[in-house]
Amino acid sequence: MSCKVGIMGGTFDPIHYGHLLAAEECRRSLKLDRIVFIPTGNPPHKDAGRLTSAEDRYAMTLLATAGVPEFSVSRTEVDRARPSHTVDTLKEFIERGIDSRDLYFITGLDALLSIATWKDYMQIPSLCTIVTATRPGYSLAEVESLPVEIRGKLKLVEIPQFAISSTEIRSRARESRGIRFLVPRLVESYIESCGLYRDVEVPQS
Ligand code: NAP
Repeated sequence: MSCKVGIMGGTFDPIHYGHLLAAEECRRSLKLDRIVFIPTGNPPHKDAGRLTSAEDRYAMTLLATAGVPEFSVSRTEVDRARPSHTVDTLKEFIERGIDSRDLYFITGLDALLSIATWKDYMQIPSLCTIVTATRPGYSLAEVESLPVEIRGKLKLVEIPQFAISSTEIRSRARESRGIRFLVPRLVESYIESCGLYRDVEVPQS
C-alpha cells in the first residue's frame, strides 16, 4: 500500500509553531500519511558561522515534534558532510523505496523563490510534488515568477495564521522579550538553558 510522505525542509533556527501548523495543514489538505522534518545541515546558500549548530537545530526539531505520531525528524542533512542539497535528499528517499508520486517536498515560498539557484533544480519536479506553505498576503506574482517546470508540480497551501518567523523569535530571545507560545515549551526551555540567540547579531532568514 502506498504511503504519502511530506518532507518538511528548513533551517529551523529555531523551529516554531508556524512550522508545526504549516506541516499539519499540508498533511491534512494533501492527505499525507506522515511528515519528516529535515533540518538543513550545511546549507550551501548560508553562512554556517551565523547559524545555530546543526545539532542544536536538530535537537529543537526533535523536541518540537515529540509525541506527534505522524511527525518524525531525519538526520540525513545534519549527518551529510557535504552541503545539503534538496535534490540529493529527495533521491535518498526514493532509493529507500518511496515512489516519487508519494513524495511531497514542503517549504516556505520565500525559500522556494530561489529554487532556480539550487543544485540540479530542474530534476526536482520529477522527484516529488512541491508544496509551499504561504503566509497571508503573499503575492501571486511571486509564484508566477517561478520556473514553469516548478509551477507545473507546485501545490500551494495557505496557512491563515502563519505570521511567526524564526527571525522574530531570535530577536525576541536576544532582547529577553519572551518567546512563550511562539515555540513549544520544550523548545523554549532548550533555548533558555543553552543560552541560544543571546549574544549574537540576528541574521535575517
Ligand atoms: P530559510 O532561509 O530558512 O527560509 C526562507 C523562508 O521560508 C523563511 O521565511 C522561512 O521562515 C520559511 N520557511 C523555511 N522552511 C519552511 C517550511 N518548511 N515551512 C514553511 N516556511 C518555511 O530557508 P531554508 O531553510 O534555507 O531552505 C528551505 C528548504 O529549501 C530547505 O529544505 C533547504 O535545504 C532547501 N534549499 C535547498 C537548496 C539547494 O538544494 N541548493 C538551496 C536553498 C534551500 P522561518 O524563517 O520562520 O523558518
